[in-house]
Amino acid sequence: MCRGGRLTALLACLCGVHIVFAPSANANDDQPLWKLPPEVIRDQVSRSVSAGASLKPSAWPNGAKVAVSLSFDLDTEALWLGFYKQSSASYISRGVYGARVGMPRILSLLDEHKIPATFFTPVMSMVLHPDTLQQLLARPQHELAFHSYVHESVNEFKGDEERETYEAALAKFTELTGKRPVGFRSGAWDLSPQTLGIVQDLGFLYDSSLMADDDPYMIVADGVASGIIELPIEWMLTDTPFFQGQWVNRLSPVKATAEVFAIWAEEFDAAYRDGGMFILVLHPQVIGRRPRIELLDRLITHMKSKPGGVWFATHEQIARHVK
Ligand SMILES: [Zn+2]
Repeated sequence: MCRGGRLTALLACLCGVHIVFAPSANANDDQPLWKLPPEVIRDQVSRSVSAGASLKPSAWPNGAKVAVSLSFDLDTEALWLGFYKQSSASYISRGVYGARVGMPRILSLLDEHKIPATFFTPVMSMVLHPDTLQQLLARPQHELAFHSYVHESVNEFKGDEERETYEAALAKFTELTGKRPVGFRSGAWDLSPQTLGIVQDLGFLYDSSLMADDDPYMIVADGVASGIIELPIEWMLTDTPFFQGQWVNRLSPVKATAEVFAIWAEEFDAAYRDGGMFILVLHPQVIGRRPRIELLDRLITHMKSKPGGVWFATHEQIARHVK
């Protein structure tokens, strides 16, 4: 009764996950999903990459009430080249802004507040912006983590391309930074059917691309714990949907910083009351504009005002704590 092909693609679309299973000899790609009994659909979903045990700890270091980790996806030109297939001057200039304007403001703000952060960086961002890389390497409190080769989508790879690309990109990343990264975030914030196995084989400690919880959890595949810790993210807890005025081929509204502060502060306050984790994913080309850096300053100041304390940590520090 198990059916593959079109059903796999449909389930992947519906669930936001990629499902790996072998079609049976009787596979019928024309069978609509709604004609399948619940057990068949449940069986197929259970074979996907999914969420296992919660890894929310009973306590954070030094008795802190909440753990906060700021992510910066240092996408630069790689985002437009690799993900959106745009290479004209206007798009490239938007990538340049992140390294040229956003990053100095971000690093200065983090220095001022004396807090660490994690920078998910495509290899090509480091190649294109060696000065920015040096500014990061001069601040060893920050973590550099893996974020694709040239911000390609994992769903575009064919055959062994994904494994070959990431093996080579990881070697180049390690050469450029002098340290092998332990954190992985897919450029597409998604995993292909091969990605998790590659992440395991390349020795990563954690992934931060998925969204099945508020707090850290163990990724399972085929119902078995993978050993890879997930530090989940969320579209509401990133800057792009609120502030990216024109993406590609579509417009999105730009929000006032006061409105976004209210949303993020409310999310943080609830994480604080719950003793959980708060991850905010930011992009230098988006959060780096003047009023938005001031927004981030206000948010960090708000976090620091909480009694009992906040543990500001890198993603790696949180993953090692909850492991
Ligand atoms: Zn990115």
